[in-house]
Amino acid sequence: MTQINACSAHCIVCNAPMESHIPSIYDDRYGCPGVFSIARCRVCGQMATVPRLEESDLPALYSRYYPRREVDYIALEREAKKAVAPLGRLRRWLAGTDNQGHYRARPGQTVLDIGSGSCLSLLELREMNVTSWGVEADPNVKDIALHFGLNVHIGSIHDNPFPGKSFDLIVMNQVIEHVPDPLSLLEVVRKRLNPYGRVVLSFPNTASAQAHRSGVRWINWHVPYHQHHFNRASFSRLAARAGYEVVNARSITPNLWTLLQLRANRETPVQGQVSSTWSSQVSAPGRRSIWSRWFLRAARFLALGIAMGSMAVTNRIRDLAGKGDSLLVELRAASMGRR
Ligand SMILES: [Zn+2]
Repeated sequence: MTQINACSAHCIVCNAPMESHIPSIYDDRYGCPGVFSIARCRVCGQMATVPRLEESDLPALYSRYYPRREVDYIALEREAKKAVAPLGRLRRWLAGTDNQGHYRARPGQTVLDIGSGSCLSLLELREMNVTSWGVEADPNVKDIALHFGLNVHIGSIHDNPFPGKSFDLIVMNQVIEHVPDPLSLLEVVRKRLNPYGRVVLSFPNTASAQAHRSGVRWINWHVPYHQHHFNRASFSRLAARAGYEVVNARSITPNLWTLLQLRANRETPVQGQVSSTWSSQVSAPGRRSIWSRWFLRAARFLALGIAMGSMAVTNRIRDLAGKGDSLLVELRAASMGRR
């Protein structure tokens, strides 16, 4: 892969020295070659992937080793309508998919979604009668945005997209852990908030039950794409440094993550190779044979059955205990005081 800068030995949250937590870990999701490690701060428990990447390393890494699924426009639109379907909230709660900040939006608000990916979140916001803008680094998303008439800036929030515009809600779903410099991202985002605005982020929780149980096999290490690994306390501390206070924070475990984790726990990753847990996740939906479509339908039905049963119960109990696999954190600018 592309050149990587040397490991920085200090914590991005509290500047204390880091020590080795996981000495050797591979990318078995997309097969990016190389051996990585996870370092842990001795003071606040914040973790980082070593070697650390810089902004300039990302285009080569993501374009070579992060395939985007082929997008089926009709399926995407159908999926978006589920956001406002009857019992939609209950279904999200059971499946653990309400770990996404844009579901907090209310009609009439202006929302910026940073890292809008396939644009599903923006389409869901449109169904929810919310005006939204998106920022996405992947140039392939330009065609999706054009197709649906969505306002998406291809690039970074550091480009100052949509100048002069500020937002009631800024959402980052599973984004901040990918970013080389989370502190500067949080600082830039704060300047784009309306006076009563909120930032809602979701990201993996290193203090989760699944992280503890799975160790090196935890699917959310996701090296080298996940650069920083947060716990609730270390993230709150970083947010305070960026001029925020935490309004609320909770943990949520998507049932799909648990299914993938159970599968990943049974595999031994090989450096530079994609494990079978992930090879089935990156195929193109539009080109599947009728048999594989039926198989997927049956698998989804089964997954739903499991979700409605023991997994949903276990995950929701873990979530209440703060041990869920994903954190959902709501921030406001610290200068606002209590309102
Ligand atoms: Zn620290």
